[in-house]
Amino acid sequence: MTLKNKVIVITGASSGIGEASAKLLASQGAKVVLGARREDRLQSLMESIKDQGGQATYRVTDVTRPEDLVALVSLAKETYGGIDVIFNNAGIMPTSPISALKTDEWNKMIDVNLKGVLNGVAAVMPEFTKQKHGQIMTTSSVAGIKSFVGSGVYGATKFAVRNLMEVIRMESAREHTNIRTTSLYPAAINTELLQTITDSASKRGMSKLYQSVGITPDAVARVVSFAIDQPDDVNVSEFTIYPTKQG
Ligand code: NDP
Repeated sequence: MTLKNKVIVITGASSGIGEASAKLLASQGAKVVLGARREDRLQSLMESIKDQGGQATYRVTDVTRPEDLVALVSLAKETYGGIDVIFNNAGIMPTSPISALKTDEWNKMIDVNLKGVLNGVAAVMPEFTKQKHGQIMTTSSVAGIKSFVGSGVYGATKFAVRNLMEVIRMESAREHTNIRTTSLYPAAINTELLQTITDSASKRGMSKLYQSVGITPDAVARVVSFAIDQPDDVNVSEFTIYPTKQG
C-alpha cells in the first residue's frame, strides 16, 4: 500500500468521519496527526490507536486559527519527520432558512468550513511546494454539488471548497509541484454533525432523514484510504458517498 508510513494530518479528528478515518488509516500503517478542539476525545482516540499497534499523536486545534494549523503541521514534522497528506475535514452544519437570518451561524460556517480549510492549505503549501509532493483532501458535501433548502450558507461553503481543491490541482500541475487534491461529497452519514443545528424545523427534518437512511462514517473512511493509497502519478479527485437508500 502506498499509504503505509504516510504522515497524515486530520482535522475534525475527534468524532465522526475524522475519527473513523484516523482509525482506519492508522490500522493500515499510516502515521496520523489528530487535530480538533476536544482534547479528551483526541487523547482517547490516540490511546486506542496506539493500543492497536498504530502510530498517532494529537494537538488541540481550532481550524479558525491559522497558527493552530501551522502548529499541527509542525507537530507532524517533529514527530514523524515530514507530512504527506492533510485531510481538511473539520466542519459544522447549522442549517436554517436564509429568512431566519442566523447571521452568527453563517459567519461561523464560513470561518470553520471555508477559512478553516484555507488555513490548512496555507499551513502545508510551503512544505508541499518545496518537497514537490503532497495531498490535500477536503470533506465537502453533496450540498457542495447541488442545492438543498436550508443549506444556503452551508452549501456555499461546501461549493467553495470544491472549487478550491480543483484549482489547487490545476495550478499544481502547471507549477510541477505534484500536489494531489481530493474532494469528498458525503450525503447522510451518522455522526455528531446534526448537533450543530439550532433551527428546530431543520433539525427535525434532518434527523428524520438520517434516522431512516444514514450510514456509518466508516463508509467515508474507506474512500479516504482508497484516495490516499493511489500511486503518486494518479489523482482521484472527487467522490460522492451516498447511502444506497437515499434518493
Ligand atoms: P462531527 O460533528 O462528528 O465531526 C465534526 C468535527 O469537526 C469534530 O471532530 C469537531 O471537533 C470538528 N470541528 C468543528 N469545529 C471545529 C473547529 N473550529 N476547529 C477544529 N475542529 C472543529 O461530524 P462529521 O464527521 O459528519 O463532519 C466532518 C465533515 O463532514 C464536516 O466538514 C461536515 O460538514 C462533512 N459532512 C458530513 C456529512 C454527514 O452527513 N455527517 C455529510 C456531508 C459532509 P471539535 O468539536 O472537538 O473541535
